[in-house]
Amino acid sequence: MERVYNFSAGPATLPVEVLEKAAEQMLNYENSGMSVMEMSHRSKVFDKIIKDAEADLRKLMNIPDNYKVLFLQGGGHLQFSMVPLNLMKNKVADYIVTGQWAKKAIKEAKKYLQANNVGSSEDKNFTYIPDLKNLKLDPNADYVYICENNTIYGTKFNELPDTLGKDLVSDMSSCILSEPVDVSKYALIFAGAQKNIGPAGTTIVIIREDLITDEVPDYCPTMLSYKIHADKESLYNTPPTYGIYICGLVFKYLLERGGIEAMYKTNLEKAKILYDYLDQSKLFKGTVEKKDRSLMNVTFVTDDEEINARFIKEATEAGLVNLKGHRSVGGMRASIYNAMPIEGVKALVSFMIEFERKVLNAS
Ligand code: PMP
Repeated sequence: MERVYNFSAGPATLPVEVLEKAAEQMLNYENSGMSVMEMSHRSKVFDKIIKDAEADLRKLMNIPDNYKVLFLQGGGHLQFSMVPLNLMKNKVADYIVTGQWAKKAIKEAKKYLQANNVGSSEDKNFTYIPDLKNLKLDPNADYVYICENNTIYGTKFNELPDTLGKDLVSDMSSCILSEPVDVSKYALIFAGAQKNIGPAGTTIVIIREDLITDEVPDYCPTMLSYKIHADKESLYNTPPTYGIYICGLVFKYLLERGGIEAMYKTNLEKAKILYDYLDQSKLFKGTVEKKDRSLMNVTFVTDDEEINARFIKEATEAGLVNLKGHRSVGGMRASIYNAMPIEGVKALVSFMIEFERKVLNAS
């Protein structure tokens, strides 16, 4: 079978060039006589892999020197706990709740501190980003938390909230590396690798150094302390070595192709092709407010559940796979991360045009 266009929300498609490089290096990585999977995380060879990966990510995101980069495990979900456990001082935090992932984050935080819901879009099933102007932030809040791109619903914070000087924490799981960001505006950024970076199993945390403290509660498990991982340069325990290696290959691939600026340009182009079509279609329609649209996850529906199901089935048969929307919202979702070529988006839109023609002709 040929490779398909894989619109999965994650784990998601990876650049073919990266997969080919990994295949080429599979049995004997750079004359080490072994696969990266088989080598000690304390070996010189792996030390270079992780150091290069960090240096390349720093270059890509222009990460200031007073931020640490950590390669951890546990996915976004573990960050829902690590953030409150490590950042609590006054034991108060403000959360903007824009979907299921932010809801899970606030629920977890409530186990450790007073987590306030300071803005929610749940009234319209998270199809928009709430007004960020007059947020009623708690003067004692240790941080303000956002989920910057809402993978399930297809919304994105296209501007950041005014946190009145409070530290901003962002879950960038589904938008990291998709467009330039000013890291210095954030106290902490985290992302599971499995959407826009590499394979599942690696979680990236970018944290301002002054937030790394050993003043965590006694009950905080050692493995959940940022300080432990920062002090040991992500080698406190055995890290997800192969995943970090693939992330490193992806970083190099991005740097060779003009970095994040170039990705952003293509991402804008890709999203425009799809949204422009949706905006004039008589069959399909986008599900979120235009100003809050995501460049990475494009959600859409028809008015008829049966037609949605038929569309997903026929698209799959045509090699356009994983277009089913998240089970909590239904409809369709096309995830078009960096590694989805523009040809994939064009193929999807051509297929949608033809599908629309058939359906409308038959009715
Ligand atoms: N945050 C966002 C924005 C996500 O999309 C996801 C996963 N889809 C998560 C958090 C949860 O991540 P994980 O499965 O890596 O724990």
